[in-house]
Order: sequence, then structure tokens, then C-alpha cells
Amino acid sequence: MRLVVMGAAGRMGRALVCAIKATPGAELVGALERPGSVALGEDVGLLSGIGRADVAITDDPLPLFARADGVIDFTTPQSTLAAAEIAAQARIVHVIGTTGLSASDDAAIAAAARHAVIVKSGNMSLGVNLLVALVRKAARALDADYDIEVLEMHHRHKVDAPSGTALMLGRAAAEGRGVDLEAASVRVRDGHTGPRESGSIGFATLRGGSVVGDHQVILAGEGERIELGHRAENRDIFARGALKAALWGQGRKPGLYSMADVLGLAD
Ligand code: NAP
Repeated sequence: MRLVVMGAAGRMGRALVCAIKATPGAELVGALERPGSVALGEDVGLLSGIGRADVAITDDPLPLFARADGVIDFTTPQSTLAAAEIAAQARIVHVIGTTGLSASDDAAIAAAARHAVIVKSGNMSLGVNLLVALVRKAARALDADYDIEVLEMHHRHKVDAPSGTALMLGRAAAEGRGVDLEAASVRVRDGHTGPRESGSIGFATLRGGSVVGDHQVILAGEGERIELGHRAENRDIFARGALKAALWGQGRKPGLYSMADVLGLAD
């Protein structure tokens, strides 16, 4: 499968370049960065520490998408939206790991998925997608006497909060409980908040250092607490998952898919 990496000089982009190099059946044919980036023109293999790949970083997706089978994109909502439109026109697989997308961004992505395969997930790791399934099950089994709190910690460079994964976990808890996450969630607490509202789903965000991604879902009842969690030790898990998603998407009919579909965890 001929693949293009968007945001190739970024943290995830470099992990993807390494994962593609190590995977039989996957070939890196292009690397993109935003116009004006200092990385333009650099060899993406040298930048990722795996030796020369003979793929220079460019800023124009059109010629690259025309000769690729898929694009893997961990960038920004704005560039992901632009890429979704071009990838749909080129009818290539678009794997979206970018987080911080708004409801209107999601609607535009769903529209693009009418023409091409899009696999989108706030977290591409097998472990987190399994955790999502476990949280849904736990929330379904326990009633609203068990308060649900979603706690996450990420590195100091992360710009959106709560993390895409925390929101996935909150959504799974809400689905398990049969409530609407938007209506039930408490995203911030500050000052005199009053007692906790029964049935709400709380979020807490920590930022610091180089933490790749820690997530914990706590179901706190009278006299006991269930804690379900996941710690990402490096970015390779996301890169491997995204690559698996791209290979899985090849030849499938157009549509918007999730990692749960790729991993066979969708219920
Ligand atoms: P990062 O290191 O900042 O990398 C993003 C890269 O994309 C940067 O090099 C950035 O360039 C580049 N970029 C920006 N606009 C672009 C455009 N129009 N075309 C091509 N490249 C462009 O961030 P990261 O840690 O890799 O994370 C990227 C995204 O993935 C974030 O939304 C993060 O939350 C998400 N993420 C998702 C998962 C998952 O499993 N779904 C896992 C990890 C991270 P500049 O720096 O020059 O702007």
C-alpha cells in the first residue's frame, strides 16, 4: 500500500515513518508539512532517525494523493479538514488521528466519507480501544449511584483538552448508561461548585513533562471504587494502530470507520 504521511516532521509523523519502514506491504511515497515549515525539502527518513528514505518533505498534497493509496494524518483540525476533501476526491484511504475536532469538523469528515474510506479515532491503540469496550460494559452494569470520573494526563505540548481519548471514554460511559454525554458531562470544576450532580460524568485534565498519555476511568460508589486505566509508554502503539487501520481500509467500501471496526471490537 502506497502511503503519504501528513505532519511528517511532528511527533506522530516521525513515529509513522518508522512504522511504515518496518511493515511489509506498506510503502512510504510522500511526506507533507504545512507551507512555510522549516522541514520542507528535508529527507523524512533522516529526520525520523532511520536513515535516508529518498522521500523529501513537501507541502502540496495534490500530486502525492494522486499516486497514493492512503494518507495517515496526525496534524491539526484545519489541515485534516482540507486533506479529507482532497483524499475523498482522490478516493484514497484517509486515516485521521488528529484530535480537537469540533462537531462541524466531524460533520464535514462524515460528508467526505461518502466518497472514500475514512478511519478516524481519538486513540489508535489496541489497549485503549479495549478499555473503551470495558468502560461501556462497566457503566451498563452499574447504576448512577456509581459516580463516573475520567482522568487524563499528557505531555506539556498538548494543546487540546480533555484529550480525544478522554472524550471517547466519557462517550463510552454515557452510552453504557444510556445518557447523552453533552448533557451529562462536567468538563471543568472551579470555585464553589456545590455537591456533585448525580449521574454526571466528570473530566479532569493534567498536563506536564513528556507523558505520552495516561487515562483512568473511576466508577466511585459507596464504599468501593472500580478503576479502569491505560498508560501509553510510547507513540509507536498509535503509529502501529494507524498503519493497521490504513491497511485494513484498502479495498473497503466508502464510509466512516473507527478503530473498533478495525480491531473487531465494535458491538
Ligand atoms: P505535533 O508534533 O505538533 O505534529 C503535528 C505536525 O503536523 C507538526 O509537524 C505540524 O507542523 C504539522 N502540520 C500542521 N499543519 C499541517 C498541514 N497543513 N499539512 C501538513 N502538516 C501540518 O503533534 P503530535 O503530538 O504528533 O500530534 C498530532 C495530533 O495527533 C494531535 O491532534 C494529537 O492530539 C493527535 N494524536 C492522536 C493520537 C491517536 O491515537 N489518535 C495519538 C497521538 C496524538 P508545525 O509544527 O510546523 O505546525
